[in-house]
Amino acid sequence: MPLSSRQLHDILKGQADAIRQLQAIYAAMDARYATAADHYGFECRGCDDSCCLTRFYHHTLVELVGLFSGYLTLSEDERRLVTQNAQAYCHVVSEDERHNRRTRYLCPLNRDTQCLLYRERPMICRLHGIPHIMRHPYKGLITGPGCHIFEATGQPVGGSPLDRTPHYIALANLEKALRNATGIGTSVRLTVAQMIACFET
Ligand code: SF4
Repeated sequence: MPLSSRQLHDILKGQADAIRQLQAIYAAMDARYATAADHYGFECRGCDDSCCLTRFYHHTLVELVGLFSGYLTLSEDERRLVTQNAQAYCHVVSEDERHNRRTRYLCPLNRDTQCLLYRERPMICRLHGIPHIMRHPYKGLITGPGCHIFEATGQPVGGSPLDRTPHYIALANLEKALRNATGIGTSVRLTVAQMIACFET
């Protein structure tokens, strides 16, 4: 684990404004996503191939702390259950990696198709599903498709993809400010399960 729960508590206490800013960034993402999805007439209604089965890695300290803040709002029983599921998830994934398998497992926060920490879910969980573009400073224009359900709607090529650029920039700037304020340089590359498996209250 890159950081201890004690450090996460300290960041939450000393850098509460960073978490408020994170929520504002998330709100802007949600609003832009809704507008883009409306444009396509697309609504996620869940599916058998849930994107919560995808093993996303998250790379920012601020999102790690943001998820921790949500975790603390769960009841003790929920925290215990979610932590057990996260530990089981991490165990099977490390076994798969040892045997060079790539099986998909449901994120430990997904309960009956609902995300238990929907308000605090990370950026990638929020932006998945519809076509997007990203203006990368070195790589130029990067484009990405929608999820397979979106693609099955047979939308014409083009349309109005979600521009992720301002959201990535806002998150990167906030991450930089938090790193400067805390002096924490530890790199983060964690699944949601790995984050939760290490949260202690
Ligand atoms: S954090 Fe929530 S939205 Fe993201 S993969 Fe897990 S259950 Fe799904």
